Amino acid sequence: MSERFKSLKEYVPGEQPRDRKYIKLNTNESPFPPPQSVIDAAARETECSNLYPDPTYKDLREALASAFEVEPSNIAVANGSDEILSFAFTAFCDSATGAVFPDITYGFYEVFSALHTIPHTCIPLREDFSILPEDYKNAKGTIFIANPNAPTGLALSSDKIESILSSNRQNVVVIDEAYVDFGAESSVPLIRKYPNLIVVGTFSKSRSLAGARLGYAVASNELIKDIDKIRYSNNPYNVSRATAAAGIAALSEQRYYEENIAAIKKTRALLLEKLSSLGFFCTDSMANFVFARHPMLSGEECYRLLKENGVLVRHFSSPRTDDYVRITVGSESEINKLSETLAQILRNKNNEG
Ligand code: PMP
Repeated sequence: MSERFKSLKEYVPGEQPRDRKYIKLNTNESPFPPPQSVIDAAARETECSNLYPDPTYKDLREALASAFEVEPSNIAVANGSDEILSFAFTAFCDSATGAVFPDITYGFYEVFSALHTIPHTCIPLREDFSILPEDYKNAKGTIFIANPNAPTGLALSSDKIESILSSNRQNVVVIDEAYVDFGAESSVPLIRKYPNLIVVGTFSKSRSLAGARLGYAVASNELIKDIDKIRYSNNPYNVSRATAAAGIAALSEQRYYEENIAAIKKTRALLLEKLSSLGFFCTDSMANFVFARHPMLSGEECYRLLKENGVLVRHFSSPRTDDYVRITVGSESEINKLSETLAQILRNKNNEG
């Protein structure tokens, strides 16, 4: 292996275990399956799998453009939003102008910086995990902000995003909206006013297509051309035929997804209520997960004891996140099972004490 990468610490994805059946609340997938029309569209397109897809993804870009009320030239597509993020690190960061992101955020940003040998600056979140736009004024590099942020779930208003954009006209600003549909304001309308903005989105969460791998960017023509230059230089056929067809079909199932989003928000409220009655502190999440800590359990202990009892959640061991676990808002029955298991864990703990 090249010397450059010998010390690279790769991204560690959430567990996808095959050894036993878990209640899986660790990778923020939707508890709802894709609608039948999406499954059918993907199956039909699979029949043409002997042929490469259209590398311009014209139909998919047109469908996305009409959903976002922009032009197809404002859209790029990719194999999951991780791939768009990787393209953005390649296209917009170099060794002079590195990447800038909060100290607690999506762990892949740090990995992409290392992979693309780009320096990065972490800007600490405030004590309450909020992002203060002033901290980003005239930042020294390309800014990456997840809105809502992960794993805190906290959202920034459009006004605050706008103040970051207007004080960084010399920098590209990437807003990662993986979880936006669960309660945050989208920054897509700002692309007309800010040619330095890229909004990154995914079909993995609210649109129940994590396994299909489909992500996109919405931005000015110029930035999309740059992203596409990198895309063509990596893999021009980066989205499969079946996935592109699934994406187009998904865009005409708005009602189905809106109902699912409403159900997930309702279950999130139920989960927050149950966790708080068990003594957990939770952040005010606008995403399809909650971020919670308990005074009697470390994050690692909570993760481990839940896993022993067949429930998977996520724990991030860094100094500021160590006490917390991130729990995906699953189905109502999964959430009931999780809270029963937690109640039992806490009873055992009390008895030990
Ligand atoms: N951004 C954030 C903040 C995420 O949490 C994730 C999911 N792990 C992604 C992007 C990537 O999602 P995908 O590649 O499935 O679109």
